[in-house]
Amino acid sequence: MRAVNSTSNRAAVRQDEMACIGGRLLEKRHFLVRLLQAEMLQIDEPVGLPKDSADAACSTSTREALYQLGAVEAGAIAEIDHALEKIDEGTYGTCETCGKRISAARLKAIPSTCLCLACKRRQEARARARAEEAYSEPWRLASALDAEQAGEDSPELSVVAVRGRPNAA
Ligand SMILES: [Zn+2]
Repeated sequence: MRAVNSTSNRAAVRQDEMACIGGRLLEKRHFLVRLLQAEMLQIDEPVGLPKDSADAACSTSTREALYQLGAVEAGAIAEIDHALEKIDEGTYGTCETCGKRISAARLKAIPSTCLCLACKRRQEARARARAEEAYSEPWRLASALDAEQAGEDSPELSVVAVRGRPNAA
């Protein structure tokens, strides 16, 4: 069992390819760090005169957008760090979910990936389902709070629930 695994891992990515991928990952990481630093500077800067409500709303949404961008980059940096760790450990190129080898073409296209294509697709499908659930969650939460405050089941509850899940109509 162990022999089979080590053989398949050794065959996954050649040593010279691994060095090349490691270099690309480090390059990408430097780029993302610089981008993140630039964005953080922008977030710090425009906090001057947001007394006018329109200006305040604008700068707030700009800052939120920057924070979201920053979160995307921070996530990408963490992913790269994880991939670099796996190169060090010698587990790079193996899917973390099913343990199968990730195809060389996929690793070339997305060097920081730690999932094979099939597992990544399953993960994305689950994430989509969760996002849809999260989207309807505020409705359910609001209606639950309304009911709690009224001290009884709110008659609006069913209306709100239907609005949150169009298919339930
Ligand atoms: Zn997999």
